[in-house]
Amino acid sequence: MKIKNNLKGIKDTLSGSNCQLIAVSKTHPRELIQEAYDAGQRLFGENKAQEMASKHAALPKDIQWHMIGHLQTNKVKYIAPFVDLIHSIDSIKLLAEVNKQAIKVNRKISCLLQVYIALEETKFGFDSAEVIELMSSNSLSEFSNIEIKGLMGMATFTEDQQQIRKEFNALAELFAQLKAQPLPFNVQMKELSMGMSSDYKIALEAGSTLVRVGTTIFGARNYN
Ligand SMILES: *Cc1c(COP(=O)(O)O)cnc(C)c1O
Repeated sequence: MKIKNNLKGIKDTLSGSNCQLIAVSKTHPRELIQEAYDAGQRLFGENKAQEMASKHAALPKDIQWHMIGHLQTNKVKYIAPFVDLIHSIDSIKLLAEVNKQAIKVNRKISCLLQVYIALEETKFGFDSAEVIELMSSNSLSEFSNIEIKGLMGMATFTEDQQQIRKEFNALAELFAQLKAQPLPFNVQMKELSMGMSSDYKIALEAGSTLVRVGTTIFGARNYN
């Protein structure tokens, strides 16, 4: 009942926008995912490949699985057969491996480029200049089984709402700029993935099309 109400609260906030909710279920047991599913939720986000694969095997097949965490190249094979969207492409090496695994399972895999927008040193991703450079080079065209669908970013972990807004606006600006220019054949600027429990309302105002919310739906995570 609680999960259902939490979902409804977020859905109400998103209603009237073209922003979809990804329920971030990492670390949470299947029963809670099933509960969210029974309340109508179909998009779920995970950050570990094997955890996602075992949940995929056990849960309803019309769930769309989103990989949102840093993905090691040797783990891509676990999710290649079914993953709906990989948000966390943070290197060309990873993209090359996703392409290789996509060819093996005869699929096209949709991906977002993760862009580094936060002040922290630890966040993964490309910087804006690298993304712009990639779009005007030929290097993405060689990935026959990849479809780049947009960008993903994470704001600085801070209470400073202005700082968060500034970072989301900067990513939205890059997104709009790319959208307005010619892009490689396998690139489209459709999805802008930004916003989590603490900042999804700011992200929505900045033009997010996919918010990734965990704690507000499922409660705090237990990493033990
Ligand atoms: C865990 C995670 C989220 C969800 O975070 P909450 O604060 O629980 O909403 C969103 N995005 C990424 C990339 C994450 O790893």
